[in-house]
Amino acid sequence: MKKVILARISTIKIPGLVSDLVTLGLITDNEISIDGGKVIVSVNVPNKFPGDLEQIKPMIEDKLSGLNEIETLLVVLTSERAPEPVVKPKLRKRPIDAPGADMRPKSAAIPGIRTIIAVASGKGGVGKSTTAVNIALGLRSLGLKTGLLDADIYGPSLPRLMAIDQRPEIKGDRIIPIERYGIKVMSMGFLMQEDNPVIWRGPMVVTALMQMTREVDWGELDVLVLDMPPGTGDAQLTMAQQVPLQGAIIVSTPQDLALIDARKGLKMFKNVDVPIFGIIENMSTFVCPHCGESSDIFGHGGAEEDAKRLGVPFLGAIPLHMDIRENSDLGTPVVVSQADGPHAAIYKNIALKIATRLFPESDDD
Ligand code: ADP
Repeated sequence: MKKVILARISTIKIPGLVSDLVTLGLITDNEISIDGGKVIVSVNVPNKFPGDLEQIKPMIEDKLSGLNEIETLLVVLTSERAPEPVVKPKLRKRPIDAPGADMRPKSAAIPGIRTIIAVASGKGGVGKSTTAVNIALGLRSLGLKTGLLDADIYGPSLPRLMAIDQRPEIKGDRIIPIERYGIKVMSMGFLMQEDNPVIWRGPMVVTALMQMTREVDWGELDVLVLDMPPGTGDAQLTMAQQVPLQGAIIVSTPQDLALIDARKGLKMFKNVDVPIFGIIENMSTFVCPHCGESSDIFGHGGAEEDAKRLGVPFLGAIPLHMDIRENSDLGTPVVVSQADGPHAAIYKNIALKIATRLFPESDDD
């Protein structure tokens, strides 16, 4: 079957390329995954690709459309090296007093999705994904139809954080998100082949993200939570500009270093005129699981002070607690596994602040 697919793809002529995708080594049989009738073809696009990227996907889809063995086909563009943004974002300074919404990049709205928020961090390992998952579940507990997109394609952690090992269904050309704990979730990790690490090895971030937001059948959502890749590089900046974001939340640990990174995060969203909903201090106070005593291992209140200084809201402090770590790694986030516990209360409180910001007052429901 792989041979047939490769043979068909090798007949595609892409303007600007001296040879076909197979001969050029952009698609090998490693990059084709077949699971029953589900086929995923990943195209390994070099960094400096001379041809028109936009054409590749429809051309492959067209070529393979006649194969009866294929029930569902997903074509993804990946890149081996550090990803470059497909579109270089233009940085614009918002003139004083101009309403933010008017100046925001004109990224097309996604049908069915009322609002999108990004959860970001200046660097990895600060608990961004854990926070994003629990906030999404907190939003859901408020009765909001919620989706969660793990856009951290360098290290997707959603499959682990929500204990999901199944593959999403693909219907027509749409990916059906997986439902867990009442929210719809999608992660690059769902499409990865554990035994085939070639897929998604350094994916082409922006193209991949666009596929994930726009080609996933989210249905009707009040809010889509985007778990951003850590850091503030070009890729993140482009995402912040390309996806129509209502606001961003920055997760930081109390350490100074993280706060410096967090400041970069703030600046990045400000540069593309995305409102900052606030900073969350994660791994704030350490609560001993044995004696219940609190200690400020990393210092405490740094993020709150910083938020004040920078004039952005402080959304809350989440303690460093074994229950959060254990449940996170078990795939049973505290907001659902200890729904009435103190940690869930903190996440829900933060979710409420976000929801109030997203849907102020008597918004239609
Ligand atoms: P990031 O997305 O920033 O890389 P993760 O959410 O994957 O970070 O978290 C990194 C590790 O820290 C995970 O093992 C997670 O369980 C743990 N963790 C995150 N937040 C907390 C917390 N408040 N208390 C205890 N452990 C936490």
